[in-house]
Amino acid sequence: MTNTLISIAIVVAIVAVFATRFVLKHMRRKRARRAPFPDNWLKIITRNLPVYKKLPRELQAQLQEAVKIFLAEKTFEGYEGVVIDDEIRLTVASQACLLILNRKNNYYPHLDTICIYPSAFLEKDPGPDGRRHARIGESWTRGSVVLAWDHSKGDARNFHDGHNVVIHEFSHQLDQLDGSSDGAPILEDRSCYQSWANVLSKDYMKLRKKVKNRQRDILDEYGATNPAEFFAVASEVFFERPDAMKKKHPELFEELKRYYKVAPEEWL
Ligand SMILES: [Zn+2]
Repeated sequence: MTNTLISIAIVVAIVAVFATRFVLKHMRRKRARRAPFPDNWLKIITRNLPVYKKLPRELQAQLQEAVKIFLAEKTFEGYEGVVIDDEIRLTVASQACLLILNRKNNYYPHLDTICIYPSAFLEKDPGPDGRRHARIGESWTRGSVVLAWDHSKGDARNFHDGHNVVIHEFSHQLDQLDGSSDGAPILEDRSCYQSWANVLSKDYMKLRKKVKNRQRDILDEYGATNPAEFFAVASEVFFERPDAMKKKHPELFEELKRYYKVAPEEWL
């Protein structure tokens, strides 16, 4: 009997902890949604992310709301002398939130911290060759995204060359939501998976072949590393060079358009 009571007490305590967390999160989001979007935040976004001005008003409003919630929930940490300020927070958050417009989402639920280095940094663990290589971004399965600030800012301002480290790393976060980094994020409907797998694997194999034959593509050769990198590289091009992708990789473009639920070809 005593054991039964202890078990019940433990279950009640666990439920209470989860319920409290849920309520606190809900209240924090409600507060963030209600808060006005500060003028200096808008100034930073329009200056550092020029594509913002080209978004339809409805998407601008969605982006502002997502940014408020993102900033209320995530922590930024500066390394190697970086002092976190509004410019860093807004420039990263606004790009990250471009990926979650028009979607039912939970604002990168596995992500707690964004670590900012001034420039390229050494990866945490040595690669297969035993050496630590320089990186401009990393996305960890649980908890963190690491970014080089100079690239994060430069890529936001130059939003048309198909290279964007923030889009790259946050598309990894979306891919990793189901626990594995494999280029297959959670899709809206079970019926979408077959077509996603067919199209992405076909274009991934084509890119591998091109890289092997030293031929260029609008997708960076880094996308030929593995399916996860292919999805991240394709996401960069989808948002920054949608017209070129529509022309050169029409099926891939349609899959990504269905997934991201936006039409970036209309913003440029
Ligand atoms: Zn990557």
